[in-house]
Amino acid sequence: MLGRQRNEHTIAERVRVTGRGYWSGRGVNVHFIPASVGTGIRFVRSDLAGRPEIPVDLSTRTDQSLRTNLAVGEAKVEMIEHAMAALYALEIDNCVVAIDGEELPGLDGSSAAYVDALRTAGLVMQAAPRRQLIVDRTIRIGTAASWIEASPSPDGRMHVEYRLDYGPESPIRPQTFAAPVSPESFAREFAPARTFVTAEQAESLRRSGVASHVTNRDLLVFDHRGPVGNLLRYPNECARHKALDLVGDLALVGAELVGRIVSHRGGHQLNGSMAEQLCKIADLVPLGCRRAA
Ligand SMILES: [Zn+2]
Repeated sequence: MLGRQRNEHTIAERVRVTGRGYWSGRGVNVHFIPASVGTGIRFVRSDLAGRPEIPVDLSTRTDQSLRTNLAVGEAKVEMIEHAMAALYALEIDNCVVAIDGEELPGLDGSSAAYVDALRTAGLVMQAAPRRQLIVDRTIRIGTAASWIEASPSPDGRMHVEYRLDYGPESPIRPQTFAAPVSPESFAREFAPARTFVTAEQAESLRRSGVASHVTNRDLLVFDHRGPVGNLLRYPNECARHKALDLVGDLALVGAELVGRIVSHRGGHQLNGSMAEQLCKIADLVPLGCRRAA
């Protein structure tokens, strides 16, 4: 089924999000700046000499297990997925994201602050048709334990489903989340869902010297009783957050995805591999994937 054809959008005015990076602890300012047709999403390291640009596409993605990073030469941006999910779901195709540090802010572990800022900016329609990547067949990647499948959309929209199951020993219970991706559904159902770790993972991160400033209030830390010193925003908040990450990682295809994506225990690396696979089929589709020139 064909998707609804729409035009590209940028934001109407510049907006800022400020916070500290989870890994680095560094304070950073992120400015979202309106951009012309053909820009795509482009990060700019405003703190480095020459303000290097890092276009968001699969050629700038670098593998990293717990977050999604981009690099062009020495210029890097880290943990882009929560901002990318918000830009993608709010249908913002062209935007310059200027950041005065390497790592995007962790905020409360969710995309909520990005959604709030970008909605405050408002959207402007642009005189170009939006690229669409229409999934016209079923593709499955991964293993029996952890896989992602893309298949044709039932209704011309993007749908995502995340199935989380860390086994009976995990303090995080098996849970599922499924929803269509639209600006409204993203803001309500995905964006507030926060990053999570187990108490054991939190301890080992602290021992390795990263994220030492991050407290139980800055993300969800689970022990066997549930979230430590925090309350869940949804009973299946973890599955929702993994669905949010999936949206942010697949946004690297640089087009509106029309398809149904189901992930069973997938993470950033598998999401990146699926984005690559989707781009391969998109080469057959007019207005397909955004590729660096
Ligand atoms: Zn995340």
